[in-house]
Amino acid sequence: MLALKVNEMSICINSIDTPSVLTKTNLPVGDYSANPYIGCTHGCKYCYASFMKRFTNHSEPWGEFLDVKFWPQIEKPQKYNNKDVFLCSVTDPYLPEEKEFRRTRALLQQLQGSEVKLSIQTKSDLVLRDLDIIKSMPNARVGFSINTLDEAFRNDMDKAVSIERRLDAMKILHDEHIRTICFISPIFPGITDVQAIINRVKDQCNLIWLENLNLRGSYKPVILQYIHDRYPQLTGLYDEIYLHGSRMYWELLDESIRNYAKENGMEYVVDDDSMKKPFDAPPVIVNFFYHEEIKKNARNIRAKQSND
Ligand code: SF4
Repeated sequence: MLALKVNEMSICINSIDTPSVLTKTNLPVGDYSANPYIGCTHGCKYCYASFMKRFTNHSEPWGEFLDVKFWPQIEKPQKYNNKDVFLCSVTDPYLPEEKEFRRTRALLQQLQGSEVKLSIQTKSDLVLRDLDIIKSMPNARVGFSINTLDEAFRNDMDKAVSIERRLDAMKILHDEHIRTICFISPIFPGITDVQAIINRVKDQCNLIWLENLNLRGSYKPVILQYIHDRYPQLTGLYDEIYLHGSRMYWELLDESIRNYAKENGMEYVVDDDSMKKPFDAPPVIVNFFYHEEIKKNARNIRAKQSND
């Protein structure tokens, strides 16, 4: 199937057939990832997924095209019982176009009735549309990416909904007894005020994930130029971290969050076990700084535990 159109936002839209929407993943939070779309019209300046453009025939810039996936009905959703499924790893499940195409909703409907451990990650409050299905999935949790409380900075970085709307949606879900996550990512050195965000969300989420800004590939010069133009006082710090490889900033931030967590009665960990905590317990803060090393360490710890 191939239908091509351009919507009112000048996004070039294709539809594509795919044998399966679920793929195995090495992410620390999932056995499988699901991406009902290729491309992402939130168009974040720091998008780590923009490499996906290489695997498409699109000439449009990242953020200005979208392939809408169609896949056969998942015959045995029970196959995914107790598996962690992460939605999504290289797009957002609740892009504005999801209102029309409803592919994320289709996937949720196909998984309904299984005991899949679903993690939804989004920058949109459109997720509230699917509250009925999410509520019926006992292991589901919903995360919102929030790396600032400053709408002007947010507006410079992405075309998704405002931070206020994300916070309101998080509260509605949490009030409905659905576990929620505040994903503070990417943390921009000198700009993202981690403690202010935690203070704002701590009564409406169960988990707080922290991820540092990684700069690689084509968006590295874009972000460095942005910092140079808009935050010239931070140029030295960014050069130190992203041109000279210093980790000092992250080490100091790690220490300050450890102290903050202690003072506020919160757990601060590098592995995620919050699904086992009572719903009303204070949120657990999970540090995903240096993803690759953490994954390696977690694998070593698991291997050691299974040998003991
Ligand atoms: S929401 Fe995620 S996948 Fe989409 S553009 Fe932003 S960083 Fe990339």
